Amino acid sequence: MNVDPVIGLEIHVELSTQSKAFCSCAVAFGGAPNTRCCPVCCGVPGTLPVLNEKMLEYAVLAGLAFGCEIQSYTRFDRKNYCYPDLPKGYQISQHAHPLCRGGEVAFTLPDGKRETAGICEIHMEEDTAKQSATGIDYNRAGVPLIEIVTGPDFRSAEAVLAFLSHVKSVLEYLEISDCRMQEGSFRVDVNLSIKPSHRETPGTRTEMKNLSSFRAVAAAIEHESQRQIQILESGGQVEQETRRWDETNRCSVPMRTKVDAGDYRYFPEPDIPPIRLTTEYIEGQKAALPEFAPALTARLVADYGIAPTDARIITANKQIATLFESAAKAAKSAQEVARWVTGELMYQLHIQGMTPAELALSPATLAVLADAVTDGIVNRTAAKQVFGYLCSGGTDVMGYIGIHGLGQMSDEAVITAAVEQVLTAHPSVVTAYRDGQTKVFGFFVGEVMQKLDGKGNPAKIRSALQERLGTIH
Ligand code: ADP
Ligand code: MG
Ligand code: ZN
Repeated sequence: MNVDPVIGLEIHVELSTQSKAFCSCAVAFGGAPNTRCCPVCCGVPGTLPVLNEKMLEYAVLAGLAFGCEIQSYTRFDRKNYCYPDLPKGYQISQHAHPLCRGGEVAFTLPDGKRETAGICEIHMEEDTAKQSATGIDYNRAGVPLIEIVTGPDFRSAEAVLAFLSHVKSVLEYLEISDCRMQEGSFRVDVNLSIKPSHRETPGTRTEMKNLSSFRAVAAAIEHESQRQIQILESGGQVEQETRRWDETNRCSVPMRTKVDAGDYRYFPEPDIPPIRLTTEYIEGQKAALPEFAPALTARLVADYGIAPTDARIITANKQIATLFESAAKAAKSAQEVARWVTGELMYQLHIQGMTPAELALSPATLAVLADAVTDGIVNRTAAKQVFGYLCSGGTDVMGYIGIHGLGQMSDEAVITAAVEQVLTAHPSVVTAYRDGQTKVFGFFVGEVMQKLDGKGNPAKIRSALQERLGTIH
């Protein structure tokens, strides 16, 4: 059977406001269970919710960034269902009048091809409590969320992942969510059906809820496509249901049969007045949108002459991009700064398990280090040691170079002597070089560098070696 998967997404994003959607409890992740809740978010009868204006502002920004039409009239609805993680017995959400409708998002596939996906709506709602095997934690109850609903516009896991990483980047650049999937700030529901290519309409769909890593999204799409295809090929029918992706056993299991909108008995939330947004307000927010990663990438290439691949690595994170640009402005060579940011900086973040936000390195300090390399004060090997010191909170580049004797050795007599010693110590390698194995040149450079305690000027070592080996020919 020639078939295509048809995929639509619902993405829940926790907004990084200070306080919750309808009370003043803190939103920040963590904290001892049930220490960040109050009568409002625990749903004690008689309490009243008050809308957090930041939630509205952040949701408007998201809508504008994804090309949606911000509705001038919007309101909350009660979505009624009974679950232990929902203390009130209903969730304050939006149904009849979501904040944002329409919209189209362009994104780039790994092979460079451009695609677009439609946004059906973006609405505001509150998060539920978190249930575990041992109990329930109300710290998350009432955390402000936006839900982004896409059209059934994706045909492959690859397209879904490219779209999700674009969406994540936009939200991070807007600074309205930390999008930490491992902490549940960015959760994806995958709706999937199978469309035989000779048919106009897709078949029955299933929904897989709360996927919390790109890996899980890709695996869930792969497995669910195969499961549905097998059912259809054996003449069966796909049940419309909500399934749970089991990451440990890498399979989806039924959770419940799909509930239709009617089952939730939505009605207008009586405790929160409808919201009317003026054109001036919406236009004002539009003017405040930042430059996003794709535009910034192009600009960094044009303004600083760095390679597009480096620019993409740099703009993958807004804080890194800001660090790069400030340092590049202050330094003599933007390329040298790019080299440190894309290389050693990424490496340090990786081995120290740090996020860019936790990095102590200032742009001014990074520029001083880059200049020290550009000016030949230290070579790159020694500069890595300085960089490690900067990443653990150090700030005095020149002082550190002085104290640790890392200054570059450029004395030609000393370098020539070291070259002489190395060539004398390795006659067979010299013979190999003479026989045309020119790649052993790197070996010589390494050996000479070692003799000079890693402090030799690499350009001078190379030219001294070339000169000496030239006479051997
Ligand atoms: P509901 O209100 O029942 O959740 P929606 O129409 O809001 O249904 O759609 C929810 C999600 O399901 C959307 O992301 C949409 O793109 C997706 N979807 C709708 N039809 C299909 C289909 N046939 N196959 C895959 N996904 C679909
Ligand atoms: Mg839905
Ligand atoms: Zn509260």
